[in-house]
Amino acid sequence: MATYKLLLLPGDGIGPEVMSEVEKVLARLSAMGVAKFEIERGLVGGSAYDAHGQSISESDMKLALAADAVLFGAVGGPKWDGVPYDVRPEAGLLRLRKDLQLFANLRPAICYPALAEASSLKREIVEGLDIMIVRELTGGVYFGEPKQIIDLGNGQKRGIDTQVYDTYEIERIGRVAFELARKRRNKVTSSEKRNVMKSGVLWNEVITALHKRDYADVELEHQLADSLAMQLVRWPKQFDVIVTDNLFGDMLSDIAAMLTGSLGMLPSASLGEVDKVTDKRRALYEPVHGSAPDIAGKGMANPIAMIGSLAMCLRYSFGLGETADRIETAIADVLAAGLRTADIKGDAKDVISTAAMGDAILARLG
Ligand code: NAD
Repeated sequence: MATYKLLLLPGDGIGPEVMSEVEKVLARLSAMGVAKFEIERGLVGGSAYDAHGQSISESDMKLALAADAVLFGAVGGPKWDGVPYDVRPEAGLLRLRKDLQLFANLRPAICYPALAEASSLKREIVEGLDIMIVRELTGGVYFGEPKQIIDLGNGQKRGIDTQVYDTYEIERIGRVAFELARKRRNKVTSSEKRNVMKSGVLWNEVITALHKRDYADVELEHQLADSLAMQLVRWPKQFDVIVTDNLFGDMLSDIAAMLTGSLGMLPSASLGEVDKVTDKRRALYEPVHGSAPDIAGKGMANPIAMIGSLAMCLRYSFGLGETADRIETAIADVLAAGLRTADIKGDAKDVISTAAMGDAILARLG
């Protein structure tokens, strides 16, 4: 049986509550003989600050670097609003992304038929939706230099951010998108603003050349980012994999997320380069939602985004696609049976707790 090293970083607020449900699933998968999981646990965010005065300790960073994958809950909350900027809870997540060099952010937007009513769009537009947004995560305007506010001396100031991409950054994110598409419906939509941005012209050229050279079997289309935003709410089912830069990806993935209803349903993955020697890639999996301080400690959190993040981990880091499919089918079955946490209540009469939702998914795993 294969052995995988997992680091669990539950974090703050509802993070530990939803991570407990993932631990149950991992225990069940081990008992079923799917794989052996060597589990380490660490602190991140406010809980790490309370324990060590840092948003993540050096020893937990070492564990993250040594792990086959990291599962991350959520960080932050009003308790830590006043802590120094460089040790604020979010700094732990940014450090992980930076040190693990996680350049590709994968956000699936899946609309389970049972939840189609929770979307702000009409049922026929979102029911059965299954798209994947691949966002470049470590480059572009959020990191480009110069990045500053300068005083022009005449009562005016100038704010400057720099959008910058090199060929290799576009190529490596393009590869992630094309490889994913091959395992899905074989279509990639690349998005930029080549009509007004030089970085968009280069993005378009590099993706087109990469496609021609290595991925001609995959369908490729290009859409301007503003037009794609419109298409996402007009007819999202036309898309399979969307690949885009850091800034546009930030916005387009939030639009796609809302097509599906609740924050409590959305998993994500952040991936690094494949190591040429070990053939493994660094990876961190986390729900899209935050620490939800308003419901923390009440047993109300929806664990589906966190459990869905584990399913992504099994599929993309451990090659256990069939087990991931089983988890996702169990989630769909639970929803089809009408079981709901408070955030996805809709017209349901009763709601169940975080732990009861985890147990219901487990019961359908076999
Ligand atoms: P949030 O995602 O924590 O909560 C937004 C709303 O969605 C809340 O009403 C919350 O109760 C609800 N919600 C979120 N996840 C849910 C779940 N699993 N089940 C049921 N309901 C859920 O966003 P926020 O309120 O803007 O931020 C709260 C804290 O989380 C802040 O400190 C913020 O900085 C932090 N945050 C962290 C991350 C992260 O760790 N990656 C991401 C976003 C926000």
